[in-house]
Order: sequence, then C-alpha cells, then structure tokens
Amino acid sequence: MLKIQSITNALEQWAPPSLALSYDNCGLLVGDPNQRVEKAIVSLDVTEAVVQEAINQQANLIIAHHPIIFKGLRSIQPTTDSQRAIILAIKHDIAIYAIHTNLDRVDDGVNKALADRLNLTNRCILEEASNLYKLITFVPTKDLQTVRNALFAIGAGSIGEYEKASFITSGVGSFQGSASSNPRIGKAGEFAEVEEEKLEVLLTDTLLSSALKTLHEHHPYEEVAYDVVSLQNKNQNHGSGMIGELREPLSSDDFIKYLKNHLGLQLVRHSHPIDNKINRVAICGGAGFDLLKNARQKGADAFVTADLKYHNFFDADSTLLLCDIGHYESEHWVIQEIKDYLTRKFAKFAVLSITVNTNPVHYSISIKDGKGKKD
Ligand SMILES: [Zn+2]
Repeated sequence: MLKIQSITNALEQWAPPSLALSYDNCGLLVGDPNQRVEKAIVSLDVTEAVVQEAINQQANLIIAHHPIIFKGLRSIQPTTDSQRAIILAIKHDIAIYAIHTNLDRVDDGVNKALADRLNLTNRCILEEASNLYKLITFVPTKDLQTVRNALFAIGAGSIGEYEKASFITSGVGSFQGSASSNPRIGKAGEFAEVEEEKLEVLLTDTLLSSALKTLHEHHPYEEVAYDVVSLQNKNQNHGSGMIGELREPLSSDDFIKYLKNHLGLQLVRHSHPIDNKINRVAICGGAGFDLLKNARQKGADAFVTADLKYHNFFDADSTLLLCDIGHYESEHWVIQEIKDYLTRKFAKFAVLSITVNTNPVHYSISIKDGKGKKD
C-alpha cells in the first residue's frame, strides 16, 4: 500500500524542505500522511476548480507548487476561493502538499524546467546557497574504504558535477580508554597509538544528520572522533535562479520573439532594448527581481523573471534586457517535471497533470499608439 507519506518523502529527497526560504510554508498542508494514496494530480496552484478536478479524476493527493495556506488562516469559511478549496478537499478526503521554494532552489526544479524550454546551455545557479559543511573524521587505515564508501553512498563528497570527492591525510592517533571502556584496538586503561587516516568530505545541511548516523554505524571505534565545520563556500547545486547561454546570440527584438515562441507567451513586459546581442540569459521562475545583481555579476545580457514593478525596469539601465514574462508563464513548466519525477520513482502509480489553467492574470491587449509591437 502506497501512503501519502511515501510520495511526499520521495519529493523531499528531490527538493529537501530545508532548502525552502524562511517565509515559506511547504510540506503536507492538508491531510493525513498515513492515508493510502490512490492517485495524485499536479498543479501550480490549488483553487476550488483544481480540487474539483481531483474529485472528478479520483485523485486523493494534490501536489502544488504554491502553498494554499501561506499566512495563518484564522477561520475556514467558504468566503474565499482558497478557503472553499480547503473545505472541499477535506470533505472529499483529498490531501494537499506544497513543494515551493525548495523546488525553486534545486538545480533540477522550477528553473531547470524553464531553462529546458529556452534551450539554455552551460547552466549554473545564479545565487548559490551557503548550506555546506565539512565532515572530518579519523579512521584506522584498514577501515578507511568502508567508512568512506558508506559516506559516499548517502551523497557526501558531491561538488558540482563531481561525486565521491574526499581528501585523506595519514597520521597517528592516540587514546587511552577508561577501565570500563571497550576499545576495538588496544586494551582498556592502556595508552595506544594507531595509524589512522584523516578523512574530509563535503556535505549539505540536508545530509548532515544521515552522515553522522552513517559514520557511527560504519566507524569501528566505540567513541568516534569527528569535526563538523560550517563553511562559507557556495553550493553549486542549490540556490536561486539560473544562468545559461543561448545557442546563438540574438538581438533584443529577436530574443523577445524567441521568448514568445518557446514559452507560448502573449505578452512580454521588458526594459529598453540593449545594443549588444543577447547571449547569456539569467532566469528565475516567479518573482525574482532581487536576483538582478547576481544576474549582472554573472554576466547576463538578459534576465527573465516575473512580478516586476514599474521602477524595476529603470534598474535595467539599458545595459541588460529585463523581461517580465508573467508568474504562471514562468513556472507552469514544472508541473510536467514533478509528474515525470514521480512516474520515474513509482512506475505503477498514477500521476496526472491538472488541465485547469490556474493563472489568475488575464491579458487584454490592444495596440493603438504604435509603441507596442505585433510579431
Ligand atoms: Zn511562484
């Protein structure tokens, strides 16, 4: 029997909740994690129409990017769409799970889905997370491979595109156990010196507790000596936004057409076109204006995001093309990404994509003053 928790655990292996930003409210927001899951439906948002579609499709788990409960709810009455959606979900025993800024901050999440649509190459994270630790431990030489392999197996020692990265220095460890100790090497109460290896590996915060558990399970000593050091280094796999390159440089006008064609957009709000051709493109699904400085630092010619305000466009300063493609339009690609991930993990479990368009923004476009452009 597949429980809701089996699905949410798998999602959290992909996008650990510890990556979520402090203001976020991701995780299981409605429902019982121990309930049997029949079918899941993936959506960007949870609205009453989305819950109705789940009912019609006999799905009892809705996986949404945006949390339906974000700020505190003081009452649940049928007065807003969100509250009606929650009431309807509870009445029909439908659970609601949110995978939000944690999915924004993995390199194969929201921004990967957008970068794929734009065919960006040579990608890297725009603002890398600082959630790295170094684990240092001291292992008898003959036990080194066992301990190191066990740590590698849980994902320790991963740096960018490299895995199994570690450093080893040989030395001599010493100890003297108390009379009641039970040393693997030497005798209780006697001073001992042992040839040991100092093993150093990198970890993310998400791996820290399992790495310490693994270390204690595989290290031969009764008392394991280790250091955990918090690093200032940046994590190349976790963080906000993404930057990559177009396959061929484009003028500002052609780049905007490219965005429209590749993302099926009706409208792009953008800053003043720039003189140089656009090659490096920074992206951030959803509201990403705060990453403008990171986009500049990483040499972006264009920055594609959403939810820009009037004054934000002045900050582009004609040196970078700042594009607002719409919040929904920048993020809905991740629905398929979530569906594909779960289908790979649970081959026999049915995962559906929502058919309702949940975009609350509608466009009415008329071009009369000659300033707008028709493509
Ligand atoms: Zn969003």
